[in-house]
Amino acid sequence: MLPWVIRRTRLPLLSMRCLDCRSETATTGAGRFRVNANGRRLDVWLLVRCVSCDRTSKLTVYERAPVRSVDPAELDGYRANDPELVASRLVDPLLARRNRFTLDWKGAWRLDTPSVRLDEAWPVRIKVVFADPVPVRPERLIAQGLGLSRNEVLRRIKCDVSLRRPTSAGFAFTVLAEG
Ligand SMILES: [Zn+2]
Repeated sequence: MLPWVIRRTRLPLLSMRCLDCRSETATTGAGRFRVNANGRRLDVWLLVRCVSCDRTSKLTVYERAPVRSVDPAELDGYRANDPELVASRLVDPLLARRNRFTLDWKGAWRLDTPSVRLDEAWPVRIKVVFADPVPVRPERLIAQGLGLSRNEVLRRIKCDVSLRRPTSAGFAFTVLAEG
């Protein structure tokens, strides 16, 4: 059976408090880095903007890092504002921890389900794959993907991870026949 795939449809927003207007949402926009190479030391920031007052903040990617420690191709990517690099840095948990923000994935991802025929042989086994690290609650994802109520999910799903705890690591579950 083909897996269900979770992928982002755009960059997530950032939940972080603006120092000027107290808004709690920021965006990377199209995604821009600032690079400051000072002798043998390197600073790289990812720029984000408050969605209500436009104040720009800098998220530290590298701080006073030895230039030689950074892969030249990666450094070129920062200088060129490479969209893939923007995405991979933004969703890197290390960046979030270091700069004290969380990601707001609301409306920024989708679930691709190959057509499942639930009238096939029971029980049905389904695998969930994460193309991007979007945290989802298995219970809600499965209900959405199969068009089941939450009660039906609790009754008919056997899952190898907690149904309630948000995860962004792949998992699999079994759908039991009705009855
Ligand atoms: Zn603001």
